[in-house]
Amino acid sequence: MIDHARTPGEKIRISGGGRCNFTNLYASAENYISANPHFCKSALARYTQWDFISLVDRHGIDWHEKTLGQLFCDASAKQIVAMLVSELRAAGADLWLQTSVSGVTRSPEGFVVKLEREGKPVTISARNLVLATGGKSIPKMGATGLAYDLARQFGLPVTDTRPGLVPFTFAEDRFRPLAGLAVPARLSNARASFDEALLFTHRGLSGPSVLQLSSYWQEGEEIRVHLLPELDLFAALRAQRQDSGRKDLTTELARHLPARLVDALAQDWSLQGRLADQSDAALQQLCERLHNWPLKPTGTEGYRTAEVTLGGIDTDALSSRSMEAQSVPGLYAIGEAVDVTGWLGGYNFQWAWASGHAAGTAIRG
Ligand SMILES: Cc1cc2nc3c(=O)[nH]c(=O)nc-3n(C[C@H](O)[C@H](O)[C@H](O)COP(=O)(O)OP(=O)(O)OC[C@H]3O[C@@H](n4cnc5c(N)ncnc54)[C@H](O)[C@@H]3O)c2cc1C
Repeated sequence: MIDHARTPGEKIRISGGGRCNFTNLYASAENYISANPHFCKSALARYTQWDFISLVDRHGIDWHEKTLGQLFCDASAKQIVAMLVSELRAAGADLWLQTSVSGVTRSPEGFVVKLEREGKPVTISARNLVLATGGKSIPKMGATGLAYDLARQFGLPVTDTRPGLVPFTFAEDRFRPLAGLAVPARLSNARASFDEALLFTHRGLSGPSVLQLSSYWQEGEEIRVHLLPELDLFAALRAQRQDSGRKDLTTELARHLPARLVDALAQDWSLQGRLADQSDAALQQLCERLHNWPLKPTGTEGYRTAEVTLGGIDTDALSSRSMEAQSVPGLYAIGEAVDVTGWLGGYNFQWAWASGHAAGTAIRG
């Protein structure tokens, strides 16, 4: 195992706020984005969330479900890294850190990999080579496009890549005054819809519903925000009109939404007057606006903060059973380097575990 990082599994260590959302109880092919939505099925079926959970249990790591089937360590993500390193050692593998790859060539026996280790050139021969260097997300953490470059070198196509699970940005710091506020929301576009928290930030919008939708968003596209999707707001406001009609509409709206957000919307939409003065039609119109708020992001925060990279090594070039390249025996690609991207919620790690297991099992024979 060759890695140019100083320590192994850095993304695992920082994931899930330091607790690693290591899998999802409900992981299945529907939670993944790929040019071929069927490709991930075989690997996911042969190494499931339950397989990983039993590995975690065997290592005595305590965990809990947070929400929506997302499983986290009780104590620390470092336990998952330690578990994987101990499994690697138990399997008799070597882990070479701070080692960079300067070139790979084909040989009659397999592959010749030229490395730079502790400042010295080292050459190794291998029957099999697994590309597992992830995607382009967070270059500061050592992400590179090495897997894509090597795939192309060996003639495997690579689909267009772009940042996924990433906050949206907006012109003119539009949401800066609202930074820090979180509200329940349903975010949607023509292709997808997610009900989770929405967070206003200094640069735009973040939070789970935003990150999820970003993976389905195309540049220049409008998104729709449905605030308070779980609440029958029209019924609530009508009841409040009965009980506290003399209060301002905005004061009463602030019983459901943060006051700072209500103030901002009141300015944009000229909301004013007492609740008692609002007709049913006016309340209905207000609810429709809150349920169908159109917003046009100027872009995303890009690979700098994206949790994943969409696209990657074209699945058409790989066996879905073994992850081996169809045209290059002995060459495998796994994890985020492949054009399979999971939703937020432990799905990306489950893909990394499952695809790694598929390749490992095939190589061991
Ligand atoms: C902040 C953050 C939080 C996340 N949280 C979660 C979560 O809670 N749950 C979840 O399911 N997913 C999460 N993800 C996504 C998840 O981390 C990735 O999908 C997953 O780590 C991909 O695994 P991988 O092994 O394919 O690649 P990586 O984990 O990225 O590993 C690639 C390795 O290759 C090494 N490498 C890269 N280039 C080179 C090179 N040129 N030479 C040598 N070595 C190289 C890197 O140092 C790295 O160790 C998160 C991602 C981020 C950025």
